[in-house]
Amino acid sequence: MNDHNYFSWGRLKRASAPQVIKPNNYEDLLKNLKKHRKLGKVLPIGLMRSYGDSCLIKEGLLLDMTEFKKINSFDEQSGLINVQAGISLDELLKFIVPKGWFIPTSPGTKYVTIGGAIANDIHGKNHHKFGSFCNSVKKIKVLSTEGKLQLLEDPDDEMFKATCGGLGLTGLILEAEIELAEIKSSYLNVETIKFNNLKEFFEIEKQSIENYEFTVSWIDLTNESKYFGRGLFQRANWADDKDLTPHSSFKIPIPFGVGFNLVSKKLMKLFNFLYFSKNLKKKTKEKTHYGTFFYPLDVLRGWNKLYGKNGFSQYQFVLPEENSKTGLDEILEVLKNDKFMPRLCVLKTFGKIPSLGHLSFPLKGTTLAMDFPVNIKKNKNLYSKLDEIVIKNGGRIYPAKDSFMNSKTFQSSYKNFHKFKKFKDTHISSDFWERVS
Ligand SMILES: Cc1cc2nc3c(=O)[nH]c(=O)nc-3n(C[C@H](O)[C@H](O)[C@H](O)COP(=O)(O)OP(=O)(O)OC[C@H]3O[C@@H](n4cnc5c(N)ncnc54)[C@H](O)[C@@H]3O)c2cc1C
Repeated sequence: MNDHNYFSWGRLKRASAPQVIKPNNYEDLLKNLKKHRKLGKVLPIGLMRSYGDSCLIKEGLLLDMTEFKKINSFDEQSGLINVQAGISLDELLKFIVPKGWFIPTSPGTKYVTIGGAIANDIHGKNHHKFGSFCNSVKKIKVLSTEGKLQLLEDPDDEMFKATCGGLGLTGLILEAEIELAEIKSSYLNVETIKFNNLKEFFEIEKQSIENYEFTVSWIDLTNESKYFGRGLFQRANWADDKDLTPHSSFKIPIPFGVGFNLVSKKLMKLFNFLYFSKNLKKKTKEKTHYGTFFYPLDVLRGWNKLYGKNGFSQYQFVLPEENSKTGLDEILEVLKNDKFMPRLCVLKTFGKIPSLGHLSFPLKGTTLAMDFPVNIKKNKNLYSKLDEIVIKNGGRIYPAKDSFMNSKTFQSSYKNFHKFKKFKDTHISSDFWERVS
């Protein structure tokens, strides 16, 4: 298959179109690997929900792994499941939820594969209870481009640590065994609390961390506004009503080919104002299906096209706990005085469970994710100022979202970069890796 418009989620168009193949069985995969190894680099991919260029390669072959989606085994008593890595969370949840199980860590979309979840060691709203995705992964089967199969079972093994959060660069993830989380309902009891500034956010966070499995906040960073820094804090626990209905597949399509940015500054200011004000009360409670709670944007098919033909970029960083408050104050000060306004912003605290991967993103502290339309000059200008603050405060930027970080920023913030490099498969690369390594 040749696709001349292959995009990552931020819809960053590549200068030269890559070749893409989608093997549908193991023999086909081996045959293609052998053929293409001689021609150049390859990169395994899932559903391309990474925003930046970690799932792209300009001069090489993209190996689409989504045909590998079998459930190999499932123990309903212990919740241990063994799956092929191309299965999506969407497909997996439809199978496990009616049986009373859920994925241990969920991102903000169900359209990611298990391979992608491992390769970015993704985090969810319950990081303070479960850590990141690979903390629940018991086994990983990896195939090198030379055809060598490895079963990784020991989380202390260096290859295991390199593969978790290893951006697909250590080999093709074929299968994984995951410890699922037990649920008694597909609904969550969700409380939403208004906060007016970061100080209030940290106070509510402190009160919530013990008794709530899930916490996340939307924050309004509309500059030139008196409401800058206010937001909605959400905290939730699973309900207990035995209703195990899985999510629906209903979607509203976004017309293809919107050529201009619909997420304009003016519109976002209005949206943020209305969103904050939709509830008059300081605190509200509701029972919400997991489909709505975890995946609110999935209902809009192709919402990433709303930013128009230039696409959009997400800047997500984490700051260690000891510097979270001062560092965030500094970042907000820069954003307030910059004309380039972030659109959708999400704030979240990570807990103390250490991530396994040499290149895993999460660390104990606070993370902020901000969506910006793409305007290369403005993105570069603002991000370089933010990078400086993040690095100075001992933080780092999330590769799954990134398209701009330079090698100095990456290597100085990911301290195990050199340990990781020893396990990189020489025939695999990505545009992200070419930029930062
Ligand atoms: C709306 C939205 C919300 C999101 N929310 C979150 C969130 O809350 N938390 C979070 O952590 N992330 C979040 N993400 C990011 C997303 O979870 C990650 O980018 C994830 O890795 C995407 O998985 P994918 O299957 O699409 O993989 P791709 O984007 O296709 O690839 C991602 C990486 O995985 C590698 N890879 C994929 N499959 C394999 C394989 N079989 N073998 C080896 N390597 C492989 C690729 O080489 C690449 O480096 C969000 C993304 C979106 C679009």
